[in-house]
Amino acid sequence: MLTFTTLASGSSGNAALVSWGDTHILLDAGISARRITTGLKALGVDPVRISAVLITHEHHDHISGLPVLTKKLRVPIYASAPTCGEINRRVPFVEDLLRRQEPGTGVQIGGLWVESFPTPHDAAGSVGYSISAEGSRMVLCTDLGHITPEVRRAAEGCDLLACEANHDEDWVRSGPYPYPLKRRVLGDYGHLSNEAGAELAALAVQSGTRTLVLAHLSAENNTPAHAREVVCRRLQAMGCDPERDVSLAVAPRGDLGPVYRLERGRDTVAFRLREAALC
Ligand SMILES: [Zn+2]
Ligand SMILES: [Zn+2]
Repeated sequence: MLTFTTLASGSSGNAALVSWGDTHILLDAGISARRITTGLKALGVDPVRISAVLITHEHHDHISGLPVLTKKLRVPIYASAPTCGEINRRVPFVEDLLRRQEPGTGVQIGGLWVESFPTPHDAAGSVGYSISAEGSRMVLCTDLGHITPEVRRAAEGCDLLACEANHDEDWVRSGPYPYPLKRRVLGDYGHLSNEAGAELAALAVQSGTRTLVLAHLSAENNTPAHAREVVCRRLQAMGCDPERDVSLAVAPRGDLGPVYRLERGRDTVAFRLREAALC
């Protein structure tokens, strides 16, 4: 059974675990190595059993745990070639661990098939990941300024979508951020707003996704309740009852999230989508 758990999610640090049988993959390492190993142990996973680390991009909140983690765990680190270059510059003694994965290609890691896809973000070569096993598939898609055809394709038909819902655009505009940072967050290579995240969630739900995890929320320009409310409203507009038809949750910022178990052939709740609900 494919399982997914967030260890931390947000601008202060990101890490998640995807498992299938004995294969355990860490998705990003943007919290301290100690917090990562504590989180893994709490999930019953001995850190030495980790098969690989996948990195979305080189921003601090996605790689800050790598220097200490790689001292202890000499496991392969997968990332796009430009991201590998950045990691190599910032993390000592890591070169022999780096595995360059061209976005759009797939690699088998133990029992898991891992595909990456490019995401529009102000980093060297940021990607999202689509991870599958035994017909179940989850997608991690955070840190992107807008929804591209590649992102849309990856999200379509997955069983679980961990989707960015970073901010409320009005809160960013009227908030305390300096102007260049506001421009960055709201720009095409910044972060998905609640509305944009809701649009991606709606696209996924329309194509069969039933588990949504809202991720990478801003501490200053969002709240879990607000992000959830915006996505609920969007789903309701297409005839979906967010309480009954889907599982919708917000990934905790600093704590372990629940363990999501994706089982092939599980019952899906049918509901009628309103015509022309999606543009
Ligand atoms: Zn980030
Ligand atoms: Zn980033």
